[in-house]
Amino acid sequence: MTRRRWIADTWNTERTTAALTGEQAAHLARVLRAQPGQVFDVVADGFLHRAEVTSVADDEVRFALHEEHEADAALPVRLLLAVFKFDHMEWAIEKATELGVARITPVLARRTEKHLAQAAAKRVERWRRIVREAAQQSRRTDVPTVDDPLPLKLALASADEPLKLLLAETEEENTLRAALEVAQPEAAIALAVGPEGGWTAEEMQLFRDNGWQHVTLGPRILRAETAAIAALSITSALRS
Ligand code: SAM
Repeated sequence: MTRRRWIADTWNTERTTAALTGEQAAHLARVLRAQPGQVFDVVADGFLHRAEVTSVADDEVRFALHEEHEADAALPVRLLLAVFKFDHMEWAIEKATELGVARITPVLARRTEKHLAQAAAKRVERWRRIVREAAQQSRRTDVPTVDDPLPLKLALASADEPLKLLLAETEEENTLRAALEVAQPEAAIALAVGPEGGWTAEEMQLFRDNGWQHVTLGPRILRAETAAIAALSITSALRS
């Protein structure tokens, strides 16, 4: 039976109790009218448990945690996503979460529109809410990390994944699939997707200087959000 899944806000160190607080508790208490004794799946500290509601209040719903169940690991993929139009970017963030991404680093690229770059720092809390909701909805046991937006140089300096792949519409030969097939099967991967105007020539060189391979998704120019989702789908198909 498929039970609704929640990602707990707090838990005790023995992982025998957990709680939802804030908006999650209000939703469960007021909208779903949870009652003591109801059973849900609850993720606490990255572990999936069968859990029984023990008390319900608008600001806190408490659970007794029962047996632990096997949890799926996230894809070992970090997405460096240039900041682009927020509604399209939020769609990409939600879908990337459903596809299993482990970490998202929003990047302020040269061609990120100025007003979006300025607003990005405030937008990050909304992006974190989106990944949390998408993680629950897609029955993940973890919530991807969303970093604070970083200028490209700092984002590249922070990328220590052994396999670093820049999605580039200018690349004609090296496909994402080929790059994944020759890499170590367990290697963590970083994928970078540019803004609507694409990466500048200097940015593309900076990627090369930092050990990133350029890879193509084919001859068509994809929107940034399509490129992100296509790249994650291919990676997931080859690595799951
Ligand atoms: N500068 C481009 C233009 O106007 O011709 C468009 C950039 S595209 C809308 C945004 C991003 O999606 C690119 O920076 C790249 O990361 C990715 N992308 C789009 N099409 C791609 C393809 N065929 N292969 C690899 N990456 C692609």
